[in-house]
Amino acid sequence: MERKYRLSTLAIHAGEEEFSPPGAVTTPIYQTSTFAFRNTAEVIEYQKGDPSKYLYTRYGNPTVAVVEKKMAALEGGEAALVVSSGMAAVSTLALTLASSGEEIISTEPVYGGTFHLFKDTFARLGIKVHFVDPGRIDEAKGLLNDNTRLFFCETPTNPNLKVADIRRIVEIARESEVPVAIDNTFATPYNQSPLSLGADFVVHSGTKYLGGHSDLVAGVIVGPKKVTDRAIETMKMMGGCIDPFGAFLLLRGLKTLAVRVDRQNKNGMKVAEFLSAHDKVSRVFYPGLTGSAQHDLAKSQMRGFGGMVCFEVRGGLESAGKVADSLKVFINATSLGGVESLACLPVLTSHWGFDEEELKRADVTPGMVRLSCGIEDEQDLLEDLEQALKNI
Ligand SMILES: *Cc1c(COP(=O)(O)O)cnc(C)c1O
Repeated sequence: MERKYRLSTLAIHAGEEEFSPPGAVTTPIYQTSTFAFRNTAEVIEYQKGDPSKYLYTRYGNPTVAVVEKKMAALEGGEAALVVSSGMAAVSTLALTLASSGEEIISTEPVYGGTFHLFKDTFARLGIKVHFVDPGRIDEAKGLLNDNTRLFFCETPTNPNLKVADIRRIVEIARESEVPVAIDNTFATPYNQSPLSLGADFVVHSGTKYLGGHSDLVAGVIVGPKKVTDRAIETMKMMGGCIDPFGAFLLLRGLKTLAVRVDRQNKNGMKVAEFLSAHDKVSRVFYPGLTGSAQHDLAKSQMRGFGGMVCFEVRGGLESAGKVADSLKVFINATSLGGVESLACLPVLTSHWGFDEEELKRADVTPGMVRLSCGIEDEQDLLEDLEQALKNI
């Protein structure tokens, strides 16, 4: 489908037209590990790069190819690679661009898995990762050097929705000709388009909003074809391919991305406003609140502010635990982005094991509750929070 159409239309149609066999409205699941050739000449055509031919599902699969086209269209990128998880997306892209002896700059906080991959696994592989505070992003200038291969940034961040200035990061990285990758998981392409702000790559945990139903694990890389082609080679050898059924679920979830996230933006805003006015709540983190210190920055690069809301209650972990245990509509579970609302305590989940100093740096406290607002009725979510807060 031509890219002139808007996101809600692309989410339904992009990528799908070429593969539909006669009469099928949806893309079939090519649930096969291997592909037959009619003759040796066809094998040779495949090896020469004929895109209509397939060899083996870790190397490529028609269902996966369709969801890749759709993701490239939604992010406005040249090409996309869909892999087995968000972590596979981060590691595949980073290992495509950086080798032993080379360096990466990453904003911090980032998702816990990304942080440990960069800090521990990459240290073992001889890739040095420098972390910078997005609030003091100009400090990155002193860290960029001839060995820097990637500037990685997540915005908004987990769990307390800090916003990094994508345009400023691009400006700084450009001076040293270093490519920029944005983890767009929290925002989704419905709310934020990093490539249009100058970033080179977008990565996603497709497990969250893109799939949207808490029933799959997937990851996405979007960027210039010349690099995604190299990333495919990394993925083939590291093995992080997605299976055809996972790709089908992602494809199915993506069709309702716009209506889901639209509702989640509304529910997120209502919940944040409700919590801000509640006397048992000491702090609310939501970039959509006009009183939030980062609202202007968020507004300059986001079209909506999403369904993730973090808040802090007075009385620390005991109070936060009471709230989480009393919620009836919000389910006590980690992860995010699905149609059902979830609540979790960051100190017991994403930030478990962090010492006091690390928690302080991440601005994560024992009284914090992180909400992922789903698509339920807004009034039921507010009433659920109201009754839960009565218990502290
Ligand atoms: C969940 C998440 C990831 C990791 O994705 P998986 O699909 O769990 O591997 C990376 N980044 C962010 C922001 C996430 O929320």
